[in-house]
Amino acid sequence: MDPRYVRRRLIVGNWKMNGLREPGVELAAAVAGRAGAAAELTADLVVCPPAHLLFPVAEALRDSPVALGGQDCHMARSGAHTGDISAEMLRDAGCAYVIVGHSERRADHAESDETVRAKAVAAQDAGLIPIVCVGETAAQRAAGEALAVVAGQIEGSVPTRAVAANLVVAYEPVWAIGTGLTATPDDVATAHAHIRDVLGRMLGQETAMGTRILYGGSVKPSNAADLLALADVDGALVGGASLKADDFWAIGVS
Ligand code: PEP
Repeated sequence: MDPRYVRRRLIVGNWKMNGLREPGVELAAAVAGRAGAAAELTADLVVCPPAHLLFPVAEALRDSPVALGGQDCHMARSGAHTGDISAEMLRDAGCAYVIVGHSERRADHAESDETVRAKAVAAQDAGLIPIVCVGETAAQRAAGEALAVVAGQIEGSVPTRAVAANLVVAYEPVWAIGTGLTATPDDVATAHAHIRDVLGRMLGQETAMGTRILYGGSVKPSNAADLLALADVDGALVGGASLKADDFWAIGVS
């Protein structure tokens, strides 16, 4: 890596719609305990619990190096949006990050690139770092469109005024999420290099080289080290394996 652009590794746990109060707080406390006891952390760690657990999990993470993130935010600051949560509310709960444009939200809530970008801008305006997710479906990959799809999502979803300090991108091939299937190291390396290239054309070299690009899709302790060793892979967005403290911790120290 060019020494001018040292990107600290980032490991993010996406708990999705899992966890009631007691096990959720236990999981957060277990991760915080391991992180607090470690002599040195080689990665920034973030957990993104469901919204009802943000406050108790923030409490469990207090005084630990583990940060808190939301799983989504609305593009507006406040108003008549039943069931939604704003970036400012996430910040109020203690979040430093928020995932936007996860493929499950793009699919289940028909979120367009434009919507994802508006959410990412709202997050930045509230002082959060958006983790902007992109990734192709199995059909798009089979049609040879993976890189073009991902480029289009980056161009449409990433805020045009982002800088490296307030942007994280996650490459998550949809077919690899929650399936146990992982993209090959070659495919991951190609996609990440392509994303950095697109970011460079869009936001300039300085921002592109400093922005952390995470890989997501069935990351687990047994494959994390190989994926994280790839040149443009700066961390991981972890779903299923983030629900077990031992597994999440093992990925965090891979
Ligand atoms: C995710 O939810 O972002 C994800 C990558 O899930 P999993 O690790 O379970 O594939």
